[in-house]
Amino acid sequence: MALLLAACAISTNTDLTAGDYDLTDPHLLAQLGAAEIEEIDWQRQSGDYQILGVGTPADPEEIALIGAALSDLPQALTRKVEARQILRVEAADLGDRIHPDALAFSKGPDVFLMDRLFAERPNRLDVTRAYVHELTHVAQFYALDPDYITAVVDGEVEQVDPADGSGLVVDFAAATGWEDRGGVAWAPAWSLATEAAASTGYGRLGPQEDMAEAVALASIGRGNLLPADRRRWVEEWLGVGLDRLASGRPWVPVGSEEVLAAEPLYDQARVEILSARVDHVEPVYWNLPVTLPEHEELAQTIETELRRRSMTGRLERLDDSRLPRYGGEFTAAGRVTYWVELWDFREADLRDGPRQPVLTYVVFW
Ligand SMILES: [Zn+2]
Repeated sequence: MALLLAACAISTNTDLTAGDYDLTDPHLLAQLGAAEIEEIDWQRQSGDYQILGVGTPADPEEIALIGAALSDLPQALTRKVEARQILRVEAADLGDRIHPDALAFSKGPDVFLMDRLFAERPNRLDVTRAYVHELTHVAQFYALDPDYITAVVDGEVEQVDPADGSGLVVDFAAATGWEDRGGVAWAPAWSLATEAAASTGYGRLGPQEDMAEAVALASIGRGNLLPADRRRWVEEWLGVGLDRLASGRPWVPVGSEEVLAAEPLYDQARVEILSARVDHVEPVYWNLPVTLPEHEELAQTIETELRRRSMTGRLERLDDSRLPRYGGEFTAAGRVTYWVELWDFREADLRDGPRQPVLTYVVFW
């Protein structure tokens, strides 16, 4: 049974107008292909956010995960943009033009979280990252050029796409080396020089994706992985330094790759003690580049970087005959506590296993 909901979203967006257009006007939004979703099957409050569901209700664990992920959104970002509706749907509808591997998508001012996002047991940061990516598209939507909106309303543009008509995307593109090579009106042909770096591989799809990736990485404390021009743009747009955004969040060196581990690469007894007062324990593993300095210096760097992120704690050498290993508890005021470990497999006395250092963050929440 579908439940019909009255429009109740309260937005804190600072600017919901584009020229003379009011982007809160339901009639206009429908013309822009973003009618409010009314066929809602269930709804849940999660922290400050209301999640609207279509299809099978999400279980309480998942709602808790979404709530925790959304509570991690940087204020600098939510002051700029909030989604009108956050929807939990099973899959995209036919006609939603989305990437085949997408875990979430946005349509106009709404963000949709799909089954696929939750299928592989994501951690809290994964969900924050996916949400911020989509929220950035919402910001792009709210920055549509009034002339573009006129073209849509007049039927000259078939489907609204921030990549074609958003002033924010144009601004990002100009600052980060994207060029319009021979596009026609409202259909730019965005191109990035082959040697230029994008925020991520996915970001190479276009400036709208590059920007969404940059904001998402910066928001979960991985701004240090971004090219300098993208870092600068995000700082300017959000009006906050990346160091502030990274406060209290895990640090990983450039060139790291998130991986899954077959067995726990951390001190299970310590983690059990630390987890006594929390509901969730999430180990997250990173393969670090082999070229990093040797383990003593590397452990020192990790500790220093975490302290720069307003965390207190120490990484100490742990007794392990197989390989150089360091561990320590890190806390950030009023936020998550991490158990952090470094296993330097480069010097491991093991027949198999990785050949690079592995950095583990066990996240408690
Ligand atoms: Zn995207």
